[in-house]
Amino acid sequence: VKWTEGRGWHDAELVPYAPLALDPANMTLHYAQAIFEGLKAYRQPDGSVATFRPEANAERFQASARRLAMPELRAELFVAACDALVNQDKAWVPSEGEQSLYLRPFMFATEVGLGVRPANAYLFIVIASPAGAYFPGGVKPVSVWLSEEYVRAAPGGTGAAKCAGNYAASLVAQAQAAEHGCDQVVWLDAIERRWIEEMGGMNLYFVYGGRDGAKARIVTPELSGSLLPGITRRSLLTIAEDLGYEVSEGRISVDDWKNGNADGTLTEVFACGTAAVITPVGSVKSTRADWTVGDGEPGAVTMELRKALLDIQTGAAPDTHGWMHKLA
Ligand code: PMP
Repeated sequence: VKWTEGRGWHDAELVPYAPLALDPANMTLHYAQAIFEGLKAYRQPDGSVATFRPEANAERFQASARRLAMPELRAELFVAACDALVNQDKAWVPSEGEQSLYLRPFMFATEVGLGVRPANAYLFIVIASPAGAYFPGGVKPVSVWLSEEYVRAAPGGTGAAKCAGNYAASLVAQAQAAEHGCDQVVWLDAIERRWIEEMGGMNLYFVYGGRDGAKARIVTPELSGSLLPGITRRSLLTIAEDLGYEVSEGRISVDDWKNGNADGTLTEVFACGTAAVITPVGSVKSTRADWTVGDGEPGAVTMELRKALLDIQTGAAPDTHGWMHKLA
């Protein structure tokens, strides 16, 4: 779908996957007006296909567009574009458990020119690719590197938007994590450098207590303005409450993580996002200290929440919150 100043959105079309021809002075290549989304379509037990909360992705896409001075795409158009592609590619939606069709809606400037200002023309595209189970061999905890040197996002910046530049800025820290033998980066706040924000492509959850039959307490970092408001994060706030947990949004410092872990009150930490659904965090490394989270194994609460969410997505459990968007 194209957008042109004065005309709005026009010329929606479904075309075979193919390379795009770009002018060397395409404004996106220079000034990075580029935003995207990620969501999945799952095969349902009756053979039909459904996407998970596409309206929530549409809403976040609109917020990202506003932050990058790009035109907003109405939620109905966003969802209709995803639906059209899924309908076309229905045969590619896998039917095995956690497998899915991953959808990548994105928008970028198409105007040609070197002046720094919002472009006057844009393109919105959705592409898709089948995605296997994230953990084909069983759920495995990830190791994380606390990035004390680099900042992903700062107050007033673009951290809450899903824009390309945020990911470009995070790659060097991801490489540093790999150099330290870690799978993922954990970002801290930009000002005090002590509050846990999120992971490279996932939000975080902290589980306290829950041993000896007691019900665990669950906390996720509050939306500080510099972390991405994940749709999985938002869904888990509801699911955890449904399952009877005391769940809240709050601030968690690096010291809380380390100390709560040492005295055993912090029992589990997990990350959540569209790609991996829920991933246990097994160990932490930083320039100051390394530690194991709980016993380093996937925790009971983590696995319970993971199953509850996947059951809704795959249609094994009833969709009590109206999150599944069924296609004809
Ligand atoms: N944080 C970042 C930086 C991400 O890229 C993602 C993936 N979109 C998430 C969190 C998780 O968001 P969601 O649950 O909507 O996939």
